[in-house]
Amino acid sequence: MMRSTRMRDYQSALVGLGYDPGALDGTWGPKTAAATRALLAAAGAPYTSTPADPVKVPATAAAPVARFDSPAYSDMERTFGPAGGPDCTAGKVALPMPLRLAWEPAKTVTSFRCHRLLAPAFTSIFVEAVAHYGEARFRQMRLDLFGGCFADRPMRSGTRKSTHAWGAAVDVDPERNQLSWGRDRASLAAPEYEVWWKLVEAHGAVSLGRAEDRDWMHFQFCRAK
Ligand SMILES: [Zn+2]
Repeated sequence: MMRSTRMRDYQSALVGLGYDPGALDGTWGPKTAAATRALLAAAGAPYTSTPADPVKVPATAAAPVARFDSPAYSDMERTFGPAGGPDCTAGKVALPMPLRLAWEPAKTVTSFRCHRLLAPAFTSIFVEAVAHYGEARFRQMRLDLFGGCFADRPMRSGTRKSTHAWGAAVDVDPERNQLSWGRDRASLAAPEYEVWWKLVEAHGAVSLGRAEDRDWMHFQFCRAK
């Protein structure tokens, strides 16, 4: 069971989004779980009752997994609309604990914007991961160092739009997972992150590190090439 002021912040965020988590008591109970399920169901994203690649996540094992199947890059516009368009920031991810901004760790956020269709899946990834690891461990593993989601920019190499331009990608701990680093240097390639990546993949997202051994900070709702 999670019980914390951070969980209370998450419950407040649920209220702010129009859901009822019951008493704001900092405890992950049936009402908070139900509100989370409602939040995950709300955006009309493709939705399944069991993860494709199940992992044991006791705190929310009864909750359905909000999965969004990643399109190929050539189908990004058909799936998500124009890069940088209004839908790309219309989703709001309510976080179960504050994330530190990787470029300014003294600042934290309790939510971030993403594509309208991806809010349930991104939310579920963070909720399930924090439930699995616990807040302290999640922070110790630097999974709370948020490197950003929506950014309307080209890929760092080339002129094609980055998947960030659709609000379809998230970066984690960029300092220790730099773009050109492989699994020999990237911290997120370590075995202790296996459950994190299993969760990311169970929700339909793709790790460029796991798929292509580059850009380990980055996961996206777009298939690797
Ligand atoms: Zn990225």
